[in-house]
Amino acid sequence: MTAARALRIGVLNGDDIGHEIVPASVTVASAAAEAEGQAIDWVQLPLGRAALDSHGHTMPEGTLDALAGLDGWILGPIGHRDYPKVPEAVNPHPILRKHFDLFANLRPTRSYPGIGCLRDDIDLVIVRENNEGFQPDRNLHMGSGEFRPNPDLTISVRVISREGSQKVARAAFQIAQTRKRRLTLVHKNTVFKLGCGMFVEGCYEVAEEFPDVTVEEVIVDTMAMRLVRDPQSFDVIVTTNMFGDILTDEAAGLVGGLGMAPGLCIGRGSIAMAQATHGSAPDIAGKGIANPYAMIESTRMLFEWLGHRHERPACLALAARMRRGMDRALADPATRTPDIRGSATQQAMVEGILAGMEE
Ligand code: ATP
Repeated sequence: MTAARALRIGVLNGDDIGHEIVPASVTVASAAAEAEGQAIDWVQLPLGRAALDSHGHTMPEGTLDALAGLDGWILGPIGHRDYPKVPEAVNPHPILRKHFDLFANLRPTRSYPGIGCLRDDIDLVIVRENNEGFQPDRNLHMGSGEFRPNPDLTISVRVISREGSQKVARAAFQIAQTRKRRLTLVHKNTVFKLGCGMFVEGCYEVAEEFPDVTVEEVIVDTMAMRLVRDPQSFDVIVTTNMFGDILTDEAAGLVGGLGMAPGLCIGRGSIAMAQATHGSAPDIAGKGIANPYAMIESTRMLFEWLGHRHERPACLALAARMRRGMDRALADPATRTPDIRGSATQQAMVEGILAGMEE
């Protein structure tokens, strides 16, 4: 019997704390992979501010092509707001998500004891549409979804397509089938009768393929309130791009903050991109205190995804091992960073995860 080929995983550090938490994720995943006998070829690729200096562009020619030949990749947070105002300094996020049609962003929120969660029984996943909606840097084929006809007037275009709505809905229903078989559609079709109306229609069209999943609807402003009051009553939530962006940060606030907010961007094929919800946190970059959980958990989600897609038990075992290591580290203040009521440096937390994986 021939050994399964190595998984080829891209590593794109991103900016600021990305240079700390992405290598930490590779360290943890490599240790788990070695223990489970899963070969991984890590492929470091230039992107972001460092690539502007080394390759003259934040999204260098060649990076997209190289990614297309991989099984998936880890993308660190991008600090594009601080890029110099030159044409070569673009935000790589929308380019990556559009180019690979990564239309669904899976963002789980989960309680852990002792880290400052509002409740101890939160376990939900927000599935955010990734490529249309209000985001002007990705919702048009060319040009920007925002424009200013005169100096005192700005118009922002929101794009909702039936196909885009159906695609993200299908991804959400599939996840709901692996959990409690309950899906909450979040929208505001009371006001956005056509836009949110089409999103809801698209979701119900897909619902016919999943008769075993119960569907409910919540209007987005009510959802903002209910996420705080009774988050434990939700399981899988699907929503449009901007609503999902806002609600996932709110959800992170329930369970210890942005350091606890992982994410995985998926599309139709098996390629996926691990990407934490948070930004590049320049205020804490270089201090050794950034919480690596969100990035490591995003990486774990990538391997779990690939394990299922490629039917690789070793890959699933490596994801399970990473899970055990993180559960162990999060249980002890000595192996938790200060944002989640711990006293550890990032390095000490990573060591705690590594030790926990060996138990
Ligand atoms: P973006 O708009 O790019 O998502 P943002 O404006 O939401 O970025 P972040 O960079 O995510 O800003 O940072 C928001 C706050 O959360 C900052 O105070 C930052 O230090 C904190 N933060 C973000 N990520 C982490 C982390 N991994 N560990 C600890 N604190 C974090």
